Amino acid sequence: MSDTPDGIRFACQPGCTKCCDVRGYVYLTEDDLVRAARFVGLTPPEFERKYVIRFKHRLRLRKPKVGQCHFLNAQGCTIHPVKPVQCRLYPFWPELVEDRKEWAREGRFCPGIDQGPLIQIGTACEIAAEMKRAYPRLY
Ligand code: SF4
Ligand code: SF4
Repeated sequence: MSDTPDGIRFACQPGCTKCCDVRGYVYLTEDDLVRAARFVGLTPPEFERKYVIRFKHRLRLRKPKVGQCHFLNAQGCTIHPVKPVQCRLYPFWPELVEDRKEWAREGRFCPGIDQGPLIQIGTACEIAAEMKRAYPRLY
């Protein structure tokens, strides 16, 4: 973190989609599944069959043959208003906001880190806590 010890800065950069295109998995909650299904005009079971892999304790988006996410196009996320919790909260993930070295390291990847208004660290941690509630098996 390059700011005061009590805060961090972040502002997503227009036109950037780096975090959607990085190799990795997108986990979703049951609510995410229902919202995304409705948004694209499918029933939840239809959406799940087409886009989701269900494990015993978690759900994740299937990957397309090319690229990282079915919902990313040149303009960005095509399900932006209902995107999964982990997408909506990034980079306010516990492992990043609770560790300033990790935050600084992530800043080499995400151009929005260290930009924008100062966010109190307590507020950032509150935002990140939603990740722990949404994906208790991952934390
Ligand atoms: S990498 Fe950072 S700046 Fe780029 S889209 Fe993701 S959050 Fe926004
Ligand atoms: S669901 Fe949307 S925000 Fe999440 S990785 Fe896919 S394109 Fe990006």
